[in-house]
Amino acid sequence: MAGLDDLYREIILDHYRTPRNRGELESPPAFESRGHNPLCGDEVTLYLLVDGQGDDAVVSDIKIGGQGCSISQSSGSMMTQAVIGKTVKEVQAMLRRFKTLMGIEGIEPQQGDDDIALGDLEALQGVVKFPVRIKCAVLSWNTLAQALDQAASTGD
Ligand code: ZN
Repeated sequence: MAGLDDLYREIILDHYRTPRNRGELESPPAFESRGHNPLCGDEVTLYLLVDGQGDDAVVSDIKIGGQGCSISQSSGSMMTQAVIGKTVKEVQAMLRRFKTLMGIEGIEPQQGDDDIALGDLEALQGVVKFPVRIKCAVLSWNTLAQALDQAASTGD
């Protein structure tokens, strides 16, 4: 990861070595989704538990497992830390914000998105200089989006 700012590299390596919210949840009631980035071989398995329905449902627990490069695994760890306790609506806003940070096109920002704090995830902004690693960084977020879709479609 030469070329990344030292502070950012420290944050990324910290999450890689000591991943947060790693593990599994019983499914159901948790929604389970899997992501794979064939370009790099990264794999993510995610378990999402939401309390409530619709946009106001709250992410009450999230666990993540898998294997892969430091970018993919640290991004997953940071993501779990960022979304726990947030509403689905807030998580969707973070998802847009993070993808925008990663230079992904076609994201339509909504009012208030600029105010979303990404915390440690900001450390990944240097990844945008390495296009091949962007898929690593967004893998866990795409996997989370799948789980949110499952949660939305089984509400009520
Ligand atoms: Zn990777």
